[in-house]
Amino acid sequence: MQPQLIICEHCDSVYQRPALAPKQTAHCQRCGALLERGRHLTTDQLLALTVAAAILFMLANAFPIVEISMQGLSNEATLWASVEALAEGRITIIALVTGLSIIFAPALQIILLGWVLYHARSGRIAPGFRTCMRALEHLRPWSMLEVCLLGILIAIIKLAGMLEVHAGLGLWAMAMLTVLIILISGRDVRDLWNELQVPVR
Ligand SMILES: [Zn+2]
Repeated sequence: MQPQLIICEHCDSVYQRPALAPKQTAHCQRCGALLERGRHLTTDQLLALTVAAAILFMLANAFPIVEISMQGLSNEATLWASVEALAEGRITIIALVTGLSIIFAPALQIILLGWVLYHARSGRIAPGFRTCMRALEHLRPWSMLEVCLLGILIAIIKLAGMLEVHAGLGLWAMAMLTVLIILISGRDVRDLWNELQVPVR
């Protein structure tokens, strides 16, 4: 199919793909069904958010995610230290999956998004565009920041009765990073296929 053509899912009418401004919508002339919705964010905005995500990612890794104290003793844990601690035990495979899903997948997502968006900003197709975009699709289920975040919050609440547990700066960074990644890697980025007119092949 030609990428510049668009088919109404309800009545099979074919249209030229319209150029939509952000938040504009296109409807089928025959049956009125929604054909396409304009992007929420421009490429510039997406790129700016990606840079913000990169900074938050560094903060999430550099600062402790939890601080635990008990009877005057205190301890902090960073993401990396938690993965390392897991790797030392007998559950190395869990450490591997955890490291992959909370450190490597988000890092790769940020790098790929930055690469693709940086080029798209000036209307160019990034070298390796297809590979990057497909990798981004495959990475989405691997990036389990939100699951991890939920786990940490539950642990903090459960431990709060016994110990003094505080959310560290790293945790706040991680929370914001989670929201940003969901926002950036959504449909708006997939629209680059059409916008740059890259044949899917
Ligand atoms: Zn229609």
